Amino acid sequence: MELDVIRREDPEVADLIEQELHRQQNTIELIASENFTSEAIMAAAGTVLTNKYAEGKPEKRYYNGCEVIDKIEKIAQERVCKLFGMAHANVQPHSGAQANMAVFLYALKPRDKVLSMDLSNGGHLSHGSPVNFSGLYFDVVSYGVDENGYIDYDEVEKLAVENKPKLIIAGASNYPRIIDFKRFREIADKVGAYLLADIAHIAGLVATGLHPSPAGYAHFVTTTTHKTLRGPRGGVIMCDEEHALGIDKAVFPGTQGGPLEHIIAAKAIAFKEAMAPEYKEYCAQVVKNSKVLAQTLIDNGLDVVSGGTDNHLMTLDLRKIGRTGKDIANLLEEVHITANKNTVPNDPQSPFVTSGVRLGTAATTTRGFKEDDMKIVGKIIANVVKHSDDAEIMAKSAQMALELCQKHPLYK
Ligand SMILES: *Cc1c(COP(=O)(O)O)cnc(C)c1O
Repeated sequence: MELDVIRREDPEVADLIEQELHRQQNTIELIASENFTSEAIMAAAGTVLTNKYAEGKPEKRYYNGCEVIDKIEKIAQERVCKLFGMAHANVQPHSGAQANMAVFLYALKPRDKVLSMDLSNGGHLSHGSPVNFSGLYFDVVSYGVDENGYIDYDEVEKLAVENKPKLIIAGASNYPRIIDFKRFREIADKVGAYLLADIAHIAGLVATGLHPSPAGYAHFVTTTTHKTLRGPRGGVIMCDEEHALGIDKAVFPGTQGGPLEHIIAAKAIAFKEAMAPEYKEYCAQVVKNSKVLAQTLIDNGLDVVSGGTDNHLMTLDLRKIGRTGKDIANLLEEVHITANKNTVPNDPQSPFVTSGVRLGTAATTTRGFKEDDMKIVGKIIANVVKHSDDAEIMAKSAQMALELCQKHPLYK
């Protein structure tokens, strides 16, 4: 296929792409933010659309020759609005962080106050981390989770009343429970703040009704398109008509140059796929698999933050066992499982070491993993956490993982 075309021109890069394909095929992917797109989506991302400059928006472009591009971008906008029940969409953000940056630019002045979830409790860098522009140019107050791992809405309300933020962000990179967007909006209204719902992780579940929607509550909704939504790598911003012009300006010329129209075509295909009944079944299976994985870990004597999950992810809490997230994530790689180390709430370890490992089921479910497979995955993880110094158990675990990969082939 395309690899042959690449190989004729650049064998060095073609070989590396092939190696990465083999890595993906022979690994159980539990990184909660990853997924596998359809071949149609990948194909669209590799088309002539990459050649076209289309600064501006459909019918208001700076360059000529955008008649076809306009149609493609409008299809993507219409589909994503329908999918999430929102009035306006900008499909140009290059990534989730870029989508958030544009909302900040539109809604805030430098040094305005933002209330968002703390990074070590599950928030995202682009929500006000001191190493990100959002934390450098804005005054950030953060909320966390309570001792049970749930958002404490009374605390969020108290912090909002005390600090009078201009923007409140609801949404996380590592929160396994349902987010109450209605309550967040009530809090935002009480203090006159805008509400941004960042559904980067849970977008697929929101689109299929498996997680309550922020539509009707959030002033702005941002998402990535490549996590549970299973599209190409990218971002989207949605809002009401009232904010449409301002948001569009904040994307271009505010924070970006020319849009990636090949990726926008791929996004359009992803939105179509997400409207199909099979995608709803897929998302339902993602949640079932996640619950079974969490329960298997618990049944094997391990802890997960908040004692379970309502969505596609969970965090293995290693504090009781006395192991670090860094060690376990590295050991999992030895048995063909990829996952990332992650802080647990009130983590005694640094963000480079951590006491947790985040696990998600979006990618394995795309491969066709079902509940029985997830029980085996849970068993392998428990083996690694408890018996990593037993070479025989480790070898057996690696074998079990490879068998699961062979049972559910990827990109054949
Ligand atoms: C992943 C994520 C982002 C950023 O997405 P990128 O495409 O990596 O920039 C933003 N917000 C949340 C909550 C995320 O989980």
